[in-house]
Amino acid sequence: MAQIDDSHTTKHFYSDLAHRDALNEQQLILVTADDHKDFWRDQNEFEALLAETDAEGYLIYLTAKGYAYRLHQRDCSLACSHSEYYLNKAAFYAINGQDDVDMALTVKTKKPQVKN
Ligand SMILES: [Zn+2]
Repeated sequence: MAQIDDSHTTKHFYSDLAHRDALNEQQLILVTADDHKDFWRDQNEFEALLAETDAEGYLIYLTAKGYAYRLHQRDCSLACSHSEYYLNKAAFYAINGQDDVDMALTVKTKKPQVKN
């Protein structure tokens, strides 16, 4: 989570943020189910707001996050004890956070798909 700051809407800023967020989400240690619910609700709100206010930044964020999640996937095991929320979100990033550099550099908005 971070504040959206218009003066820092660069590729670097959003890809750094995505990597930090991904690491935090992968190592998330929360005690109760409600904590997890709150965490992911905040995260989803952040992403929705970003998508609304800065489509290019959102695309960069999504792509970088997809990359970070794919990296983690190599070492992922039951020992991680990810929540159901994490696994759902990981599936979302797998579909929408494609490792496509050209895509990340265009201003064209990719409509997120939700697989259900
Ligand atoms: Zn894992």
